[in-house]
Amino acid sequence: WRDWLAEHSADLVDLVQQETGKSYGDAVGEPAYGIQVTDYWLEHAEAFLAPEHPESAVPTHRLEISHHPYPLVGVISPWNGPLTMPMLDIPAALMAGAAVLSKPSELTPLTWAEAVRGWREIGAPDVLGIATGDGATGAAVVDVVDFIQFTGSVRTGRAVAARAGERLIPSSLELGGKDPLIVLADADLDRAARAAVWGACVFSGQGCSAVERVYVEDAVYADFVARVVDWAGRIRQGTVRGEPYVTDIGAMSSEAQLRIVEEQVDAAVAAGARALTGGARLQGPGWYYPPTVLVDVTDDMAVMREETFGPVVPIARVADAAEALRRANDSEFGLSGSVFTADRERGSALAAQVEVGAICVNDVCTTNFHLSLPSGGWKSSGIGARFGGAAGIRKYTRAQATLTLTESGAAEPHWYPILPPTT
Ligand code: NAD
Repeated sequence: WRDWLAEHSADLVDLVQQETGKSYGDAVGEPAYGIQVTDYWLEHAEAFLAPEHPESAVPTHRLEISHHPYPLVGVISPWNGPLTMPMLDIPAALMAGAAVLSKPSELTPLTWAEAVRGWREIGAPDVLGIATGDGATGAAVVDVVDFIQFTGSVRTGRAVAARAGERLIPSSLELGGKDPLIVLADADLDRAARAAVWGACVFSGQGCSAVERVYVEDAVYADFVARVVDWAGRIRQGTVRGEPYVTDIGAMSSEAQLRIVEEQVDAAVAAGARALTGGARLQGPGWYYPPTVLVDVTDDMAVMREETFGPVVPIARVADAAEALRRANDSEFGLSGSVFTADRERGSALAAQVEVGAICVNDVCTTNFHLSLPSGGWKSSGIGARFGGAAGIRKYTRAQATLTLTESGAAEPHWYPILPPTT
């Protein structure tokens, strides 16, 4: 299936562009990432799932922990990565030995349906199903599976977790974020500015771990903002199919998402923020929102509190690292974040205090490409994690504890009749 995906990459990328309006550069990574994930589990699954034999305190007891797949795993995915999102979870579930019932987003079902067709075309076992439809279909999936892997919004995640709780099946939830990026005064400002622009604008901002808030130390604030404006202004926008790399970012994937971005930016500007670039949807066909650098933002604005999921870089000025930390942590979300500083030790110490599941020092949104690291949110950003070495595949299994007696005896001393302890 990995080879099939590689051979059909060009067609899959084109489908992703048609479904989402992504630029070629944003779409081309989807099959490549899925293949990387598959390769990782192909290399490690067997060792991660091998039975373990913990040491026993009783010499005649041989102990074993074995990993048995959940019979049916449900995987419900969002629209922002039509191929990537299912591919982040499904190869591990299949290699754990589970059958999978997948449910792509109703906004982008075509690319995933094609990948499942590929599974059938190669003659693979009939253990990968697809159910297309909206929320009602997703709810029906939760009702029949033995484990649910959900990626999507906090609101839907709560509904899925509640239903999974009623059914007493485990769930793993990858939800939304409001990722902070902190820039200390000693940082390489150009790198930090470019990271902020890429991190906020990649996929037109429609990435769960997109940069959504930037906190910059006072001493370098003006310089940093000027660099962000410069780099944001160079972004080429448009959805061009069949001609690679002529634009950097594409469209918003739905009109509803475009309206959310519009409303948040408009409300921020009405409350005193200034848009130094962008600030209004592009006229003409398509749902295009331009890279928008916002300054003079305050923490009570929706653009600083709620998930924006658009190419917006709101930048706040802070007195020092302590204020940056306090404001970064003042959020219901805790998906990921970044810290930029020339002092790596100080960066790590600050990173350890940011309440998120994944954080980069002097980089952005990059932990997800190291599959030995867990990818999961804190607070309202999720429960559980994908990837993370052995844990990323064992989650699709139930552990069975086995004790085998290595030497037979007539009876154990604690069996009936109960006799007084011998001294
Ligand atoms: P969504 O919650 O609206 O929908 C996600 C999926 O859930 C869709 O397939 C939808 O049909 C289904 N669904 C809707 N109602 C359901 C119900 N009651 N029961 C079961 N399934 C139901 O999210 P979306 O708008 O498609 O995706 C965007 C969100 O996903 C953003 O919040 C983003 O941050 C998040 N996301 C998180 C990660 C991560 O790894 N943490 C990755 C990508 C996207």
